[in-house]
Amino acid sequence: MTYDTENIFAKILRGEIPNTTVYENEYVLAFEDINPQAPIHILIVPKGPYTDMAHFSLSASGEEQVAFTKSISEVVKIAQLESTGFRAIANTGIDGLQEVPHYHLHILGGGPLGPMVNL
Ligand code: 5GP
Repeated sequence: MTYDTENIFAKILRGEIPNTTVYENEYVLAFEDINPQAPIHILIVPKGPYTDMAHFSLSASGEEQVAFTKSISEVVKIAQLESTGFRAIANTGIDGLQEVPHYHLHILGGGPLGPMVNL
């Protein structure tokens, strides 16, 4: 998939659309989902132009991948999800019902989350 520079998260990363930032470093921005599906719903987004998880894991540099993985524990700590747990989801492609074509990891928590998948 070709990266669409006009996708909503690219606009957020460029500061064209506001967000409620939870955590940020050189490689990653994490912000609250605009339509939360759980009491806590945070999106972790790499700053590089990657369409989805498969693209990121194939093409991002080692530094970007380490920074992204470490940001998960930072976000979990900030959101105080360490003791109660959480769910991380990366919707990918058509079957994954991915809406925004810029890789993002959903961090969901703050209460029991129900079944993993409803088919
Ligand atoms: P996907 O279906 O691509 O995995 O999830 C996209 C997520 O982005 C959805 O949960 C949706 O609520 C969220 N989202 C879409 N537009 C915006 C926006 O403008 N700001 C924020 N903070 N979240 C958004």
